[in-house]
Amino acid sequence: MKLSFEKSRDGRSFPILPPLDVPREDLPEGLLRKSPPRLPQMAQPDISRHYTELAKRTHGVNDGFYPLGSCTMKYNPKLNDEMAALPGFTGIHPLQPPETAQGCLEVLFAAERLLCLITGMDAMTFQPAAGAHGEFTGVLLIKAWHDARGDKKRAKIIVPDSAHGTNPATASMTGYQVVNVPSDSEGGVDMAALREAVGDDTAGLMLTNPNTLGIFDKNILEITRVVHEAGGLNYYDGANLNAVMGIARPGDMGFDVVHLNLHKTFSTPHGGGGPGSGAVGCKARLEPFLPKPRVVRCKDGFAFSDPERSVGSVKAFYGNFLVTLRALVYMLTLGADGLRDAAQNAVLNANYMMKGLSDVYDVAYPGICMHEFVLTLEKLKKERGVSAMDVAKSMLDYGMHPPTMYFPLIVKEALMIEPTETESRETLDQAIAVLREIRARADSDPGSLHDAPLNTPVRRLDEVGAARHPVLKYNFDGVSD
Ligand SMILES: *Cc1c(COP(=O)(O)O)cnc(C)c1O
Repeated sequence: MKLSFEKSRDGRSFPILPPLDVPREDLPEGLLRKSPPRLPQMAQPDISRHYTELAKRTHGVNDGFYPLGSCTMKYNPKLNDEMAALPGFTGIHPLQPPETAQGCLEVLFAAERLLCLITGMDAMTFQPAAGAHGEFTGVLLIKAWHDARGDKKRAKIIVPDSAHGTNPATASMTGYQVVNVPSDSEGGVDMAALREAVGDDTAGLMLTNPNTLGIFDKNILEITRVVHEAGGLNYYDGANLNAVMGIARPGDMGFDVVHLNLHKTFSTPHGGGGPGSGAVGCKARLEPFLPKPRVVRCKDGFAFSDPERSVGSVKAFYGNFLVTLRALVYMLTLGADGLRDAAQNAVLNANYMMKGLSDVYDVAYPGICMHEFVLTLEKLKKERGVSAMDVAKSMLDYGMHPPTMYFPLIVKEALMIEPTETESRETLDQAIAVLREIRARADSDPGSLHDAPLNTPVRRLDEVGAARHPVLKYNFDGVSD
């Protein structure tokens, strides 16, 4: 397929900006570009076809089943996008005086109240742009709290080995030493190892729950107690709150900080690097450290206010506002019962699929799972030479997106499957049938799986090459730079 730059023809562009309806202001000379940007010039129908052609070469949630574990690629109600497209929300400017944007401030305020209710927290910021960014912000709060008390020796953050990879990365980015704690035979935190690890140098613990094995840690109350008794704070990675929302609250389990991925659980379509929100909630004792600004209620409506000991801003303005808006619409349309239903269906669907596969595939940690489960294909690879990659890629030939592969790292030849709450029983049955058929082919004709996918517009990609030598921009005139 040709790139838009290759399809470009000089003079074929069309005006996209309306005529100026305000006085013209020229930028200072020093800020002007020396030459016009080299943008592709195409007619409208050609642009439309270009992107349609691109879209056909990939697999989205509108094409079919997309069980990407740890990522929650679910169908999101279109109503939320309709609301996010209302001109009252899209036509505002972040520097507008707050008196003229009261509705938008109310959106932030109302979303904060509801999400605090759902998580059991007291206050929340929507500034972080993604989950990992939320973790970073949350750990900054933990650090600020210890610093404010003059407790300088707390240099370590405890991270179980079943955590999402961003947890240890965050702890390290914020200047902490990461202390790894292994999992026990049931996939939970090894309690003896945790007790061993805590001490007066423990700043806190980061717990992904459900963890990346799809398991809710049954010792969770004991875990948070052990950390609190050592003087540390507890951080809950709630990216995948769709497993527990409306049923259990991190705030009631002894957690001081939580982040949510509004772009996973609360209905902003993601993937491809679209806008996200790693909202961070905290208990009252951490509220003075939250990023600024925050929205507060005042006597004539809503206003911005800076927390007294704020860690500063982690992003311009108030984060990705329209993501917060979608979350609010999602919560208001589903209501408390609907949110609980969504969580129960997420868990039911995952258990249904796990049961439908567990006689032909090895489940890494059998038992009840939450919103996702992990298969291990180690034995299959040894006995038949068929890898997790082969099985995953074969699914594409049946019109299904592969699950997450080779993650979590503590499981060999892992396939991590998250059906999500929005799939029907028919779709789950079909996915189970496809995975069973692939398993049967691994016995009868394993060679046929090595070359999959065969029926997709692009075949097996050179993923290592793409990661090691990414070509991210068009090479004009064949000159490399
Ligand atoms: C997705 C995810 C993250 C990271 O979120 P990003 O928005 O990709 O930065 C962190 N923790 C868990 C458990 C996740 O599933």
